[in-house]
Amino acid sequence: MFDNLQKRLDSVFKKLKGYGRLTEENIQEGLREVRLALLEADVNYKVVKDFIAKVKERALGQEVMESLTPGQQVVKIVHQELIELLGGKTSSLSLAGKSPAVIMLVGLQGSGKTTTSAKLARFLKKKGRRPYLVPADVQRPAAIKQLQVLSKQVGVECYPSDPKEPPVEIARKAVLKAPLMNLDTVIIDTAGRLHIDEALMGELKAMKEKVAPQEILLVADAMTGQDAVNMAKAFDDALGITGVILTKLEGDARGGAALSILAVTGKPIKFVGIGEKLDELEAFHPDRVANRILG
Ligand code: GDP
Repeated sequence: MFDNLQKRLDSVFKKLKGYGRLTEENIQEGLREVRLALLEADVNYKVVKDFIAKVKERALGQEVMESLTPGQQVVKIVHQELIELLGGKTSSLSLAGKSPAVIMLVGLQGSGKTTTSAKLARFLKKKGRRPYLVPADVQRPAAIKQLQVLSKQVGVECYPSDPKEPPVEIARKAVLKAPLMNLDTVIIDTAGRLHIDEALMGELKAMKEKVAPQEILLVADAMTGQDAVNMAKAFDDALGITGVILTKLEGDARGGAALSILAVTGKPIKFVGIGEKLDELEAFHPDRVANRILG
């Protein structure tokens, strides 16, 4: 994960730490290299610009210049600002309020939405919740079957969706049925298409109105870099999302999506998928990810 970025930053920081004293010139040069490393990692251009400006302002301050270990101070500032860029603290789900809690998973086909629905059900079950998986992707009939199979694997109930019914009706009925089955968390796997289109957004908006979800999570593939960021922005503008789940992060050597999404959309990454297996979903911890990037 993030191997390329980590290697690049490692060599910049070795150089910075190697200087006994730092001149303004050394810092400018170091930050130019950090900037290039972030751009090569496919981080959004404006996000990089703002990030470097913040680090520069702090790094050129007196505390750093007069410190005994100025190089290390600069690295520390980059580390702190990276944590901020990733969201500061871990963002958990807000499922308080009405019961059953409702979570809609949205995203394009192939992003990993169906798999992630089952992973999330497993995760929440382990936390003591009683999830109800609801396949509402009637565009891809195989998705209903896929979620039914996965739900058995994670030991969670699955709503018997009728593919002939409109997804909004499926969602509405499932939410009504959950309490009758003593289930408290409805997870809806919505339809994904190859592209964002009016019909998809219209359907998702109607569903949102009908079931008033506490969470609308966009599932996006980390490997698609800035496409994932643009997608998050488009879904947020049209529908309003509460957070992002980034999948396939284990194969992402660059990290551009992870480092841009919050700054571009204002919405946090809440979970990450780190493999195909159903236990390979983790809460997103900005500090741990920053530690990893900085080696
Ligand atoms: P959907 O069309 O969005 O519902 O996508 P699927 O859930 O069918 O997933 C598409 C593919 O991505 C499947 O082969 C999944 O196993 C795979 N996948 C999902 N999440 C991850 C992940 O975190 N890492 C990896 N490596 N593969 C994943």
